[in-house]
Amino acid sequence: MQSRSPIRKCVGCGARRDKIELLRVVNNKGDILVDPGGRTPGRGAYLCPNMDCLDKAVEKNSLKNALKIEISDEIYEQISEEIKHG
Ligand SMILES: [Zn+2]
Repeated sequence: MQSRSPIRKCVGCGARRDKIELLRVVNNKGDILVDPGGRTPGRGAYLCPNMDCLDKAVEKNSLKNALKIEISDEIYEQISEEIKHG
């Protein structure tokens, strides 16, 4: 299968998916932003847009490692809101 979009890996389940199917989370100088357009500069991590992958990524510390920031309840809530409400 050929795809023109870059492939990125979900930090939760580890699946490789088309970049546009994943939710990009960015650490922009200490502010965590959910960046659907993929344009925000900064250290980014990709997640499948579902709570399972968010929970896995937090449990495995892979989101923390990818973003180089402690995932506080606030950050967790912010990302989960984005997943639930898009
Ligand atoms: Zn995933």
